[in-house]
Amino acid sequence: SVPLDLTALRAQFPILATRVHDQPLAYLDNAASTQQPLQVIQAVSDYHQQYHANIHRGVYQLSRNATRMHDYAREMVAHFLHAAEPVECLFTRGTTESINLVAASWGRANLQPGDEIILSHLEHHSNIVPWQMACEATGARIRVIPIDDAGELDMDAYRRLLSSRTRLVAVNHVSNALGTINPVKTIIEEAHAAGALALIDGAQWVAHGATDVQALDADFYAFSGHKLYGPTGMGVLYGKRSLLEAMPPYQGGGDMIEQVTFEKTAYAQIPNRFEAGTPHIAGAVGLAAAIEWLEGVGFERIGAHEQRLLRLATERLSAIPGLEIKGTAPHKAAVVSWVMVDPPIGTLDIGMQLDLRGICIRTGHHCCQPLMDRLSIASTARASFGVYNTEAEVERLADTLAEIVSAARDASARKGSTETPP
Ligand code: PMP
Repeated sequence: SVPLDLTALRAQFPILATRVHDQPLAYLDNAASTQQPLQVIQAVSDYHQQYHANIHRGVYQLSRNATRMHDYAREMVAHFLHAAEPVECLFTRGTTESINLVAASWGRANLQPGDEIILSHLEHHSNIVPWQMACEATGARIRVIPIDDAGELDMDAYRRLLSSRTRLVAVNHVSNALGTINPVKTIIEEAHAAGALALIDGAQWVAHGATDVQALDADFYAFSGHKLYGPTGMGVLYGKRSLLEAMPPYQGGGDMIEQVTFEKTAYAQIPNRFEAGTPHIAGAVGLAAAIEWLEGVGFERIGAHEQRLLRLATERLSAIPGLEIKGTAPHKAAVVSWVMVDPPIGTLDIGMQLDLRGICIRTGHHCCQPLMDRLSIASTARASFGVYNTEAEVERLADTLAEIVSAARDASARKGSTETPP
């Protein structure tokens, strides 16, 4: 296919041309949130300027049109995930709410004392805490798939954890902290063989490669719009129709009912049953535009470009003496996490110094405290790449880091030479 024209592609993202601290912006925090192309910004703006009305039940044309736009977004999402039907794609606030929905609705209706949920050591807090809450309410318990030092799941240990007590396996498709791409198809297959369901947290995958929930045979699949070049406050929960239809509502309110009396409420069919209240209509419009934009670029080109950036970043950063990369699995998304051990420079310090030079990375535990504990560290510095990042930005990150490290080394040498022994 035609290679990416990065200059033209970047021109579609106005924010990339801005400056911070009077330096050109190098935005390398795409695992936290991606920026939005004009196509998305314009679609949302057009919606607000010309089409906004509350959806459903409106007899007037404006409302009927807004309803159609909202329905169209669901069709786009179904097509994007290769879901069998749009009604299997629920709109949520994001990955976090999607997982909470399953934990609260499916979890509380199906879990019993003695049941087990299998998570992994790579999980984001949003795929841990909702399960802890469901376990507290039901008496079920959590088992954890361990990882090796490279940040890969120990699949033999996973097989040993699976048993007739396992009700659900919930793992991420890609680790946000290390970038590991997990073998989710195998994980799902083996969960099913043990009689359990599988939920995949796709927050860090969907922007980087094609997703096919039917080929994966995922029971639930969650993602967020803002990691997909779309708006915040907008997410998706895919669930198989038979499962969703058997689940009790998550929240009660308007738009999720068939009929209400003070004695009893009959709930609406899916997806409305799980979408109480006025939804984020503009968010749905923006998400549909983001999907159209991404599909226009094409995952083949996105994947090839991002893998090139990953290889370059890995090569350049690992050449910095005293820098240790965390997460060295052979199959990774374009995420590089590291710590500076010699000279020891705190990750927060690294992040702040890079910011002064216009480079945005993330530092901290990345909402993965159990993973940090497993690696015996408190935090990492993380650069994560998106389709608009360039090799020049990767070089700039590496050069700037090398400068920071060498300045720290000089400072500690000076300190050492001026210190008089007691
Ligand atoms: N899971 C993973 C793997 C993530 O990276 C994130 C976002 N950092 C989430 C879940 C939560 O997504 P959100 O904050 O959009 O709900």
